[in-house]
Amino acid sequence: MRKKIIAGNWKMNKTVGEALAFAEALTPLVAGKDSVDIVICPPYTALYSVSKAFEGTSVATAAQGVFWKTSGAYTSYVSSPLILDAGAKYVLIGHSETRGRFGVAEEGLTDDLLKAFGETDAGVNVKAKAALAAGLIPIICIGETLGERKDGATDVTVADQVVKALEGISAELVSTQVIFAYEPVWAIGTGEVCAADEANRVCGVVRATIESRYGAETASAVRIQYGGSMKPDNAAELLSQEHIDGGLIGGASLKPADFAAIVAAAAG
Ligand code: PEP
Repeated sequence: MRKKIIAGNWKMNKTVGEALAFAEALTPLVAGKDSVDIVICPPYTALYSVSKAFEGTSVATAAQGVFWKTSGAYTSYVSSPLILDAGAKYVLIGHSETRGRFGVAEEGLTDDLLKAFGETDAGVNVKAKAALAAGLIPIICIGETLGERKDGATDVTVADQVVKALEGISAELVSTQVIFAYEPVWAIGTGEVCAADEANRVCGVVRATIESRYGAETASAVRIQYGGSMKPDNAAELLSQEHIDGGLIGGASLKPADFAAIVAAAAG
């Protein structure tokens, strides 16, 4: 049995004050839900305060990204040791928004500018290795764009992202320390949820890809979240699927009651 993991990605939202008010409201709502790993990903500016606020509770924190160097002259970037020092246990890597794959044409932004966000598969791999070396748990996000889905390239896209993300990472680390989040880009922040059976099928492709590289035992241990417009009213169906071991939640993680309802759905 894989333990379910529910993570709330706040993206570029919440001041420190708003983040602390959220922590205060959420804590009693998820008390006793020890059968689920609960994670909040605040912006960097609130990471330390939120980590402190959840100390002694079952809620852990994650950074929304990481640089692969440990320290030095890298203006604006944040390393794994600094993230650990701020109190986080997890880190998101390869979110479609940091890969520059927004899935919509942003007004006035060219493809080149979007790509300048620049998280590539190779970048995801070095960041995952750096996070693991420091003792952080990477949540590696993968998923196809609408164009890739329409072209029938969903499975090959996702499998390729998995293989490239894991290059050079041992079976032991993969089975105990790596989490994947399957997030179809077209379902993120759009309100358009992937049907539960299709989300399960693609999470199965992720698992089969891991199996082909590392064997069945490792593949069956890895937790795979679904992300993309998960909400209180669709969470239970998604979370009941064989290959879906949790959720990565954006919009619905901004309100304590909604997020707590998704945690409750995972707790069963
Ligand atoms: C996300 O940002 O990872 C996400 C899944 O967002 P939303 O839940 O808003 O679609």
